[in-house]
Amino acid sequence: MDTSKAFPTLRVVTHPLVQHKLTILRDRETPTKIFKELVEEIAMLMAYEATSDVELEKIEVDTPLETTNGRQIAGKKMTLVPILRAGLGMVEGIYRLVPNARIGHIGLYRNHDTLEPVDYYFKVPGDAAERDFFVLDPMLATGGSAAAAVTSLKRAGATRIRFLCLVSAPEGVRRLAGAHPDVTIYTAALDRELNTQGYILPGLGDAGDRLFGTR
Ligand code: URA
Repeated sequence: MDTSKAFPTLRVVTHPLVQHKLTILRDRETPTKIFKELVEEIAMLMAYEATSDVELEKIEVDTPLETTNGRQIAGKKMTLVPILRAGLGMVEGIYRLVPNARIGHIGLYRNHDTLEPVDYYFKVPGDAAERDFFVLDPMLATGGSAAAAVTSLKRAGATRIRFLCLVSAPEGVRRLAGAHPDVTIYTAALDRELNTQGYILPGLGDAGDRLFGTR
């Protein structure tokens, strides 16, 4: 995993499997079914890295032969929070790795007058202060939705929040890190820039459209 001096809260997951799969994901010829499967697989591999520092607690376990000491994830169930709609594509893969995770949802739209993101849907489990949250969105572009989603989670009491995306733009990382320096950002790639329409270059296009075949 790479870190960068310019972006101290950013972790780039450089594992060869992640990089290989990301390259297929970027390919404009990759069909919807494969695209969806790859998003799930990359999300799972990234979650492996992003959970490497969650707390463990000791627990006794009875093997068929004797009692021994084991470890289990401490505290309340981890919570995945996809940002609608493209974040949904990352849930299944991570859920396979963390099958007792809870799943919240955040839907955001941009207010035409203020241009600020506003929640139109927000549902996360209670006891937010005691949970580890993983906010999911494949593309960290301007960072507006990501920062707003984290703000909403904090308002609900969350204190331990990580952000997982597949591709990020420097503009988005800067904005999210500026607003929430306590949130570690995991990404498979830090791309060059945003274009004038807010798409990441070189990117992979519209992640939601490619996931759900609405292009
Ligand atoms: N959202 C996308 O789906 N793609 C981008 O490149 C930027 C934002």
